[in-house]
Amino acid sequence: MIITPHLLIGAAIGVKIKHFGWIIVLGILSHVILDKIPHWDYGKRIEEIPRDKNFKKNLFIKIFVIGIDGLIGLLIIAPIIWQKDMMNLSYLPFILVGIIASLLPDFILGMAKLSCHKSKFSRSYVSFHHKFLHHPKHIRKPTPIGLSTQILVSVIAILILLL
Ligand SMILES: [Zn+2]
Repeated sequence: MIITPHLLIGAAIGVKIKHFGWIIVLGILSHVILDKIPHWDYGKRIEEIPRDKNFKKNLFIKIFVIGIDGLIGLLIIAPIIWQKDMMNLSYLPFILVGIIASLLPDFILGMAKLSCHKSKFSRSYVSFHHKFLHHPKHIRKPTPIGLSTQILVSVIAILILLL
């Protein structure tokens, strides 16, 4: 899935579990489960960006879009945790760890791709992520189901955060 639903679920796990070990386990597990659900992904994959003279520019655009996606997630969370009086040390560290754990598999994916598939680990990690987790039917075009699953997951996460 794109960053926002992963991030929202990670924050919800952090708010509700409040145990670092379990937050990390559940955060990573949530990523695997959400990626298994049919979903749409934007833009070209990093490895599909042609390695020509525009590579750096296109890579920057890709990372910029990912950053905007993450920012949208944070902008959804901020008013909720502000309003729920969770902007303090008894919540923020758990929320932060939840967000990091839920995004970690994609962060490793990005690093593995940028390493140009040099190591055996990065090759098998990338192929596992794409072959096993991302549903090929919905990745390319924003199909109604590919979008609605992500909206649904985000709404569920927001509800968990609000309750
Ligand atoms: Zn992923």
